[in-house]
Amino acid sequence: AKSAGRNQIAFFESAMQFEVEQRLTIERDLAEAMASNQLQMYLQPQVDCEGQAVGAELLMRWNHPGRSEVSPAIFIPVAEESGMILRLGDWVLRQGCLTLVRLAEAGKAMPISINVSPKQFRQSDFVEKVRAVLDETGAPPSLLILEVTEGLLIDNLEDTIARMLQLTSLGVRFSIDDFGTGYSSLAYLKRLPLYELKIDKSFVQDAPADPSDTAIVQSILSMAKHLGLRVVAEGVETREQADFLIASGCDSLQGYLFARPMPVSEWLETGLC
Ligand code: C2E
Ligand code: CA
Ligand code: CA
Ligand code: CA
Repeated sequence: AKSAGRNQIAFFESAMQFEVEQRLTIERDLAEAMASNQLQMYLQPQVDCEGQAVGAELLMRWNHPGRSEVSPAIFIPVAEESGMILRLGDWVLRQGCLTLVRLAEAGKAMPISINVSPKQFRQSDFVEKVRAVLDETGAPPSLLILEVTEGLLIDNLEDTIARMLQLTSLGVRFSIDDFGTGYSSLAYLKRLPLYELKIDKSFVQDAPADPSDTAIVQSILSMAKHLGLRVVAEGVETREQADFLIASGCDSLQGYLFARPMPVSEWLETGLC
């Protein structure tokens, strides 16, 4: 038993070491990736009850030459911790605006959602950056949706609200991403200048079979309706999920059932938009 314990410790140590090394490699490679155009933005449609695209989310992809695709679920947290998310975030914001202009030029203008990390949002000059990039690209502010998470609301609620108001006065809109997984209370939701809630895919996945997930989805929808907010469900993979969400009053749906994230050029060729 003793040697089994030792083996286990050795196993954990090497797993930890692997993780540290992987983190360092990602950090180093990410800087290189930005410089050498390995990062790309993909679009995933959000559709209405008739399957028509009514918007899209911009998601980052990293095509690393020496490696199979690295998921943003892995490299975004590394970028957050190292501070590199600020440069990545600037780039994403710009890509979002450029995409809006490109879609408008193709006669296919629609709202584009980008993910804004907490560190990015809290930069002292974030509002200025958004204003500058909107001006410079000529992107229509009302079509730019900033997805933020509930984590932003935990501390400095007053500062967060003030900043959100400055941004909404530029014309951009806010969506709360992964809604239901973090710190949520009706009291603060009411005070935020929000446009939309995104129901996290963990609740969508097991609905409508799982009664508690079904109840969570339904109560998010009823709360949103009372607050006058639009609701998007993410991670919709089956027809049953889609039918249930539409019947429950969801405004739009995003997920593999409709389309995977794809390059913008591909998006312009689909019949979706
Ligand atoms: P997220 O913002 O919650 O994005 C939704 C994730 O769900 C995306 O994963 C999307 O590809 C995936 N997804 C879409 N439909 C389905 C479905 O039907 N089933 C399942 N199982 N998954 C689905 P992705 O692209 O791997 O991104 C992971 C996370 O990385 C994002 O989660 C977001 O937190 C972060 N991320 C991605 N791009 C950016 C970015 O440009 N900036 C920042 N700050 N974070 C980003
Ligand atoms: Ca998102
Ligand atoms: Ca999400
Ligand atoms: Ca998520």
